[in-house]
Amino acid sequence: MRILVVEDDADLGDAILRRLRREGHGVDWQRDGQSADEVLRYQSYELVVLDIGLPRKDGFSILRGLRQRGDRTPVLMLTARSQIEDRVDALDVGADDYLSKPFDFREFDARCRALLRRSQGLASGVTTLGGLVFDRAAKSATLEGVPLELPRREYRLLEIFIGNLGKTLSKDDIASQLFDFDDEAGSNAIELYVGRLRRKIGGAVTIRTLRCLGYVAEAHGSNG
Ligand code: CA
Repeated sequence: MRILVVEDDADLGDAILRRLRREGHGVDWQRDGQSADEVLRYQSYELVVLDIGLPRKDGFSILRGLRQRGDRTPVLMLTARSQIEDRVDALDVGADDYLSKPFDFREFDARCRALLRRSQGLASGVTTLGGLVFDRAAKSATLEGVPLELPRREYRLLEIFIGNLGKTLSKDDIASQLFDFDDEAGSNAIELYVGRLRRKIGGAVTIRTLRCLGYVAEAHGSNG
């Protein structure tokens, strides 16, 4: 998933970034509020992790603007202070969840996972498609009961396809969710990952190539 982190504290921002990238997400980091506000006007994300106290523009203003534009991207607010007012304000302005600093990273991970699931419109973390079982919480997939060996990027790619069954995804759509801004990702790399994934997932999910358009994944025997 593609995630925006808005945090001015260098140590915390760095720790969050490393954590999310290790989970296989594409992460952008903005350190000041004004820049974050601008990026959110043209770039879409599956999740925004938003600090309140930021240089140039505070988190509440950013969130208020986002919601006023009709943008429903899930937002996890980081409240530095333990005041109840901050948490109430965050929810009132339109945050989906909040976490008070300092926080335990295991809790951070769990909350991000829950919001990303919501972002994909999926009620549970497990998707079964024919013989393929995809488990987001365990970050694993099995085919006919046999665990699939999926390196980080292939796992993410499968997650993207499962979240967009029946939709045409251009290589750019895929690249924006699979790689960071600063990654060098050619379309050859996408073809390579798709090829590898196809060989592993067999017939449960078919990834069709649409010439000049991209890819579309179709499931056979879906039961949610
Ligand atoms: Ca701050």
